[in-house]
Amino acid sequence: MNKDIDIAIIGAGASGLMTAANLGKCDYMVFDGNPKIGAKILISGGGKCNVTNENMDSSYFLGESSFVDAILRRFDQNDLLQWIGRYGVIPSIRTRGQYFCNTSAREIVSIFSRAIPSQKILTSCKISEIKKVDDRFVIKCHNKIFRASRVVLATGGMSYPQIGSDGSGLEFARMFGHTIVKTAPALVGLTLQKEQFFLKELSGISIDVEIRVGEQLCDGALLFAHRGISGPVILDVSLYWQKGSIFIDFLPGFDLASVRDSKKLVSSALPLPKRLLKAFLAHLGIEDKAVNKCTIDEWEKLVFLKNYTLSPAGNFGYQKAEAMRGGVSTDEIDPKTMMSKKVDGLYIIGELADVTGRLGGYNLQWAFSSGYVCAYSLKKAK
Ligand SMILES: Cc1cc2nc3c(=O)[nH]c(=O)nc-3n(C[C@H](O)[C@H](O)[C@H](O)COP(=O)(O)OP(=O)(O)OC[C@H]3O[C@@H](n4cnc5c(N)ncnc54)[C@H](O)[C@@H]3O)c2cc1C
Repeated sequence: MNKDIDIAIIGAGASGLMTAANLGKCDYMVFDGNPKIGAKILISGGGKCNVTNENMDSSYFLGESSFVDAILRRFDQNDLLQWIGRYGVIPSIRTRGQYFCNTSAREIVSIFSRAIPSQKILTSCKISEIKKVDDRFVIKCHNKIFRASRVVLATGGMSYPQIGSDGSGLEFARMFGHTIVKTAPALVGLTLQKEQFFLKELSGISIDVEIRVGEQLCDGALLFAHRGISGPVILDVSLYWQKGSIFIDFLPGFDLASVRDSKKLVSSALPLPKRLLKAFLAHLGIEDKAVNKCTIDEWEKLVFLKNYTLSPAGNFGYQKAEAMRGGVSTDEIDPKTMMSKKVDGLYIIGELADVTGRLGGYNLQWAFSSGYVCAYSLKKAK
């Protein structure tokens, strides 16, 4: 089958679907290798989709801040909430300004099923090649060839390749001469060096901590896991950590000096799970005794709990990562249109671009904002 279209959108994830849903009567087709649309949206936010956040600006993203702000200014969290509200979806705000669906992420995907005519979506169609021949793009999917005047790369990055985003978009962009900023798994658990393997025995314990990573301070729940450390705060930390140490305050807001004269056992005096404290005491070589009986040396070791140095060995990898850092250099994308500055008619949106948000609804907002801006400029340039 050979078909000519105006706009080919490669990827039926958050960014590609947002573009398609705002193209109105334009001649377009959305392609996805998956049998169904919105696979990643459906598993986002633990199945409830943390769609956006009330606190929204470029400081919550890794990437060129002027580029991110330019796009958010055109379509921010309020615009998104209003847009999905028109389809009857009204997410609820939870802690930290995060908006979640009330029933399930399906609420969001169903918006797109309603907004995009089914004949304009081609699923189970993995694009293997895109070339530009004269002024037309030639797109290959199995034995089918499509020709399009404009192509939107909305393929996502490399996180969760098991549901489609396997990095093929990066390959397409590279073939078109784009620079790829070094990629790495982000919003992902971290693995431990041998000397901290004792932490694996605490698997299942979750506590609130504060962590310094470079210039950033992250706080929230840390979960000890079989493979290392995870939980919301670690996912956030993983966005900024590349190598070197992170510094964990296991007792945020707690004044350790206030218990220095306590007659209670260390494991009872400190507001931490006993199992965790006992493991730390064993690791630090301190006997569990009355706090006031601790020597100066022992006390100094306990103070480490407020600034515990940990050098992760690595991370759990793309298979477990909620996002990818790096991607197509935003120096080569026009923020007014999302069009490539290198190839006329080629657009790059969503996670594929070198913009990655923190945990909390930022990555979906980015995908939706960049998709919306792209649709607007495609319609205008028609
Ligand atoms: C488990 C998990 C939970 C998450 N939870 C949240 C959350 O609650 N809030 C939040 O803000 N962010 C969350 N994220 C991140 C967020 O979902 C992504 O950043 C966002 O969906 C990216 O959208 P996208 O359109 O750029 O890419 P994707 O959603 O990855 O979509 C890309 C699509 O392109 C298709 N594709 C790729 N290559 C080809 C090809 N060659 N041919 C045809 N089709 C192709 C893929 O099949 C895929 O469907 C989560 C991510 C994961 C993995």
